[in-house]
Amino acid sequence: MRILVTEDEKDLADAIAKGLRNQGYAVDIAYDGQQALDMIEISDYDLIVLDLNLPLVDGMEVCRQVRESSSRTGILMLTARSSPSDRVSGLDRGADDYLTKPFHFPELLARVRAILRREGESRDTILRTRDLVLDPNSQRCYFNDDEIKLTTKEFAILEYLMRNAGRIVSQEELLEHVWDDDANLFTHSVRVHVMNLRRKLDGSGAVDAISTVKGRGYIL
Ligand code: CA
Repeated sequence: MRILVTEDEKDLADAIAKGLRNQGYAVDIAYDGQQALDMIEISDYDLIVLDLNLPLVDGMEVCRQVRESSSRTGILMLTARSSPSDRVSGLDRGADDYLTKPFHFPELLARVRAILRREGESRDTILRTRDLVLDPNSQRCYFNDDEIKLTTKEFAILEYLMRNAGRIVSQEELLEHVWDDDANLFTHSVRVHVMNLRRKLDGSGAVDAISTVKGRGYIL
């Protein structure tokens, strides 16, 4: 899942991004509202962590423009102001949730997970496809109750495919949602990661869980 952190306090932005990357999310950072709008135009984010007070274009306006163009992207608003009117106007402009600064990082993570669940088909905290089970909270994967050890990237690929089970996902789409802007790689690397992931799944008994649709992508 790919997340855009929009926050002008650089230390805070970097800390949030680092924490989210540790959880396996692909994360980009925008330090002002205009940069956020530019990045949203180029990349398809699953979620935006959006500070309210931003230079150039404020968070409310970013939120409004995101909602005008996409109803799918989740928005978690950050605000130093705790007045009820800010929260109400944020939610009215299409934010999915808000968090008042200062906050505890585990709470931000929990809200991010809740919004991403809302965006997907399933509201269950655990993802299941037949006997394959993925727990985004603990970052663990099981087949028939046996744990499969995955790298962060393999986990992120499998999570994306499971959230989109039954639909063909192209290599470009995987690149877009599983890697961030810093990743300098080609679709060849996607193939390598998927190949390694498949080898582990096959070895654990989840044989042929991921199918290749020639010329189009992968389907779980
Ligand atoms: Ca700010």
